Amino acid sequence: MSFPYEAPVSQSLFDRASAVTPGGVNSPVRAFRAVGGTPRFMVSGTGPYLTDADGREYVDLVCSWGPMILGHAHPEVIAAVQEAVARGTSFGTPGAGEVELAEEIVARIEPVEQVRLVSSGTEATMSAIRLARGFTGRPKVIKFAGCYHGHVDALLAAAGSGVATLGLPDTPGVTGAQAGDTIVLPYNDLAAVRAAFAAHPGEIACVITEAAPGNMGVVPPLPGFNQGLKDLCAGDGALYVSDEVMTGFRVSKAGWYGIDGVRPDLMTFGKVMGGGFPAAAFGGRADVMAHLAPAGPVYQAGTLSGNPIATAAGVTQLRLLDDAAYAKVDAVSAQVRGLVTDALAKEGVAHRVQAAGNMFTVFFTDAEVTDYDAAKAQESFRFTAFFHSMLSQGVYLPPSAFESWFLSTAHDAAAVERIAAALPAAARAAAAATA
Ligand code: PLP
Repeated sequence: MSFPYEAPVSQSLFDRASAVTPGGVNSPVRAFRAVGGTPRFMVSGTGPYLTDADGREYVDLVCSWGPMILGHAHPEVIAAVQEAVARGTSFGTPGAGEVELAEEIVARIEPVEQVRLVSSGTEATMSAIRLARGFTGRPKVIKFAGCYHGHVDALLAAAGSGVATLGLPDTPGVTGAQAGDTIVLPYNDLAAVRAAFAAHPGEIACVITEAAPGNMGVVPPLPGFNQGLKDLCAGDGALYVSDEVMTGFRVSKAGWYGIDGVRPDLMTFGKVMGGGFPAAAFGGRADVMAHLAPAGPVYQAGTLSGNPIATAAGVTQLRLLDDAAYAKVDAVSAQVRGLVTDALAKEGVAHRVQAAGNMFTVFFTDAEVTDYDAAKAQESFRFTAFFHSMLSQGVYLPPSAFESWFLSTAHDAAAVERIAAALPAAARAAAAATA
């Protein structure tokens, strides 16, 4: 397709970036490969808006892929960061901020009795898997096709997110030995999980699942699926590991656990808990966490773990996220979902809006999407046309049909009005699109 809407400054930055960085980006989905055109280089954000290097403003429906749940440059978060930064940026010692952040997490999420801070969601899942193997003394891990747990070698098999966006099968660089103990099963298929446990008795260290997947687009667990996983794990002596890097502190005060109440043995967090800085965590049962160094033998460490700036931002953001804040994000999410559905229905575009709490994806298909194969069967060429129409009208959507849309407490009536105004033309573009 053609891209009549130009962004010359972003284009020149992208050209420079491409000379010094593979593909011009530091995380693949940012490159717009799935939708084509020039990735926008953003220079500032405030509330629900981003401004690009060409000076154009967008309503932001990506929110940094989830973290910015209070909107950009929230004054209290910025003040906390400025105050922290003036005291120094990293000490390599324990600090009060990491205690406060850990206490905040433990207070909110009942199954988390102890927590260890890391710097990215990838580190959190990698460490949780190592701990599960160390604790159980077992080698194998079950994951689900379309679930993304970061770029951990053993977990990249049939992953969602950028792996889905770019249509990569599995990635070169991961050896058979690294992936050989990973069992990949179709999502929402308890019978397949039961069969895997039967085929490998006493060998499975854990089942890791996105609490409610957002990385093949939003595909919530069918009723009873997470509970079924938990029960199968408990029956076999394996651990149930719930990856809440995306849903944690976003879909409720206690994340997806706050919605479905299925108690994991271990959980992973990231995104919202860092307030826009690199902070993530894994935690859960105290008897399992006790196996981590220096309390126990399973090694895990990080030079910048519990960084004082990141913990200041994270604690401040979490403390601002009260029930009223979640009610606000839920309400504006429902409003935007309704507007999108109305606009697409008016143009007769087959679509399905799937939500998990306030996260949602617009799939271009009539059929319910319950797994990765169904997600891939959508007419993603319609998303491409829809995306570029919205972009040209100042609405920034995730540049892939396989991602969640995110809102914030800052998305007010004016921001919603801009989205509403852009939707009719975008729906017409989606209707007119051809494969
Ligand atoms: N787990 C889930 C569910 C995620 O959505 C992501 C990132 O999108 C990760 C893990 C990896 O987190 P990070 O990108 O911080 O390494």
